[in-house]
Amino acid sequence: MRRTFSIHIVNAIKTCSVFAVLCAIATTVVAADWQAGLAKAVITPDNPTWMAGYASRNRPADGTINDLYAKALSLRSANGETFVLVTMDLISIPFPLRHFLEDHVHQQHSLPASALMLNCSHTHCGPEIRTSRWALDGLEPNRLKLAEQYVASLKKKLTTTIDLALERLEPSKLVYVRSRCGFGMNRRTPSNGGFRNFPNPDGPVDHDVPVLKIEDPDGKTKGIVFGYACHNTTLGIYQFCGDYAGFAQQYLEETHKDAIAMFVLGCGADINPYPRGTVELAQTHGKSLATAVEAALQTTPLVLKPHLDHKYGKALLEYSTAPTKAELIERSESSNQYIAAHGKRLLKQLEQDGQLRTNYEAPVQVIKLGNALTLIALPGETCVDYSLRLKAELSDETSRGRIWVAGYSNDVFAYIPSRRVLLEGGYEAGDSMKYFTTVLQHGPFAPNVEERLIYQVHRLLDE
Ligand SMILES: [Zn+2]
Repeated sequence: MRRTFSIHIVNAIKTCSVFAVLCAIATTVVAADWQAGLAKAVITPDNPTWMAGYASRNRPADGTINDLYAKALSLRSANGETFVLVTMDLISIPFPLRHFLEDHVHQQHSLPASALMLNCSHTHCGPEIRTSRWALDGLEPNRLKLAEQYVASLKKKLTTTIDLALERLEPSKLVYVRSRCGFGMNRRTPSNGGFRNFPNPDGPVDHDVPVLKIEDPDGKTKGIVFGYACHNTTLGIYQFCGDYAGFAQQYLEETHKDAIAMFVLGCGADINPYPRGTVELAQTHGKSLATAVEAALQTTPLVLKPHLDHKYGKALLEYSTAPTKAELIERSESSNQYIAAHGKRLLKQLEQDGQLRTNYEAPVQVIKLGNALTLIALPGETCVDYSLRLKAELSDETSRGRIWVAGYSNDVFAYIPSRRVLLEGGYEAGDSMKYFTTVLQHGPFAPNVEERLIYQVHRLLDE
C-alpha cells in the first residue's frame, strides 16, 4: 500500500515535471512567438550599366566601390498574419516593379498587396531601372538592352530573396529602440525670392533613427532594420556604391556577424548629407549612422507583442492646371535640354493619349506591430514635413505606439512636397518633374497634395 502510494507520488511528480517542462516550453514560445526570416542578394549589375540619379551623366558606370543589395525580412505574427519588407540599394521603385512583386507574393505565397512593403535607399550610384513606356521611349539600342537585362536579373533576384526570407521563418523576438543622428541637414535655402539647393541649418529635419531588432530564441541578433531621413547622395561618381546607407549596413553586418542589416529611407527628400562629395565622407556618414544604431541598441528595448496588422490604399493626388499645347511647344524649344526633352515627351503624350495626366494614385501603407509600433510607408520622394507632421499628430494616440514614417516606399514616381514646400516653390515643389520618366507628369501637384496623403494615412489607421 505504502509502496503503491509512493509509486503514485513518484508518478504524480513525474507528471508534474512533464507538465512543468511543457509549461516552460509554452512560455518560451509565447515569449518569442513572432516568426521571422531574413535573406539578401547582391544586385550590383554584372555589366557596365548606365547609372541613375543625375541626368547630366554621359556614360555608363566604370567600376564598383561596394556591392548593392536587395534584402528581405519576413514576419509572421501569432494571429497568423504575414508581412514582407524588401529594401534595395537602388534609386527608385518604379510602379511596374511593384506590380510584378505584388503578383509574385500573391501567386506564390497567397499574400495581399498590404503584406508587401518596398523601400529604396535612393543611392545615386546605382543602375538605372527603366520599366515603363516613357522611361524606355527613344532610348539608344545598346543602353536599352543593358537596361532591360538589368531589370530582368533584378526581378529574378528579388523574387528569390523574398521566397528565401519566407522559407526561413523561425521563432524570433522583436524589439524596437531608437536614437538620433545629425549629418542630415535641410537643403532648401531661400535665395533671390526662390530656393536653391544649399545647406540650410535653420530648415526642418528629422534626426530620428528608429531601429527594429530581430533576435533568435537564444538572443542572437539576426536582423537590424534601421531608418534615417536623408537623401542618400554623398556621392555622384561613376562607380556603383550604396553611399552612406550602404556603408552603414556594411558596418553593422561586420559588427553583428549573424545579422542582416536593412536600411529604410525616411522622408528625406529635402534633406542632404553634409558635407558631401567624396567616398570618405560617405563612409564617415555611414559610420555615424551605424554608431547611432549601436547607441539605440544600448537603450531600454520595447518588446513587440506578436500581433500584426497591415493596410494598403491609394491616395488620389491631383496635378496643377495642365499646360496648353502652345505652352508645350514653347517648352520643347527651350535652350535647356531637360525642359526641351520633357516638353517633347509631353507633346507626344498629348498626341497619343489625347490628354495629359490629371492625377496619380499613390500608394500608402500602414503596418502595426503589436500595439507598440506603427510603421507608415509613404510613396515618392517624400519631404520631411510629412514625418514631422504624422509623428506629432499621432503621438498622443497611445494605441498606435511609436510612429515610424518611411518615405521612398512602394512607388517612387515624383517628389512629394508638403503644402509649405509646394507653395514656396523650387526643385522639390515641381521643378524636378521634368526629370521623372517612369510616370510622365507635366508639372507640380495641386496644393491639396499633403491633405490627400495625410487623409489616406488616417483612413487606413482608422479602418
Ligand atoms: Zn532624390
